[in-house]
Amino acid sequence: MRASATGRVLHDPKGGSFWFDAGAVCLDFAHTGGEGRYAVFEALHTPADLGEWLAQPPLAAVTTVPVTARELTAAKALRQAIWDAAHAQAGRRPLPAAAVATINRAAAAAPLVPELAAADTTAGWAPPVRATQALSTLAREMIELLSGPLSGRIRECASDDCPLVFVDSSRPGARRWCAMERCGNRHKLRALRARRATDP
Ligand SMILES: [Zn+2]
Repeated sequence: MRASATGRVLHDPKGGSFWFDAGAVCLDFAHTGGEGRYAVFEALHTPADLGEWLAQPPLAAVTTVPVTARELTAAKALRQAIWDAAHAQAGRRPLPAAAVATINRAAAAAPLVPELAAADTTAGWAPPVRATQALSTLAREMIELLSGPLSGRIRECASDDCPLVFVDSSRPGARRWCAMERCGNRHKLRALRARRATDP
């Protein structure tokens, strides 16, 4: 799970899509939809949707056991917990106890087991591969993130109306936007207009 390999295409319900790299697989996972006003972003409608998401790189956990409805429910609970914990951390608030409990519960299950291919140096996951294991791996990544050196780099997008959250793993640590092509350029455009308006 290399940090450089993270990121997914996010689809805006109002149309359009953009590349968003949350900097960690668990944080990318937190952006697959949600409850309330985030329900329109829902990408995980069925257990098969969850299987497809997990199968994509960098996690590349192709489940060998069909994903169950129960696992989909657990996945959504974990997703919400990661989202809540990330926002609390970004706002330098204490982590919500319920989110911590949900993440710990998911992490307590057996994680994916790495397996080296016999022929070359590629690695995969040892079968059987279950969604519950993949969720445990995501939960463990979130625990490492929150307790590790990058915890202070978990941030919300600097745009006022954008709730996307990411971990800035760049060396300078100056990332402000979810994506330059989305909020970054909007901000630049607004700054330019404001400057023009005040220019004599
Ligand atoms: Zn943004």
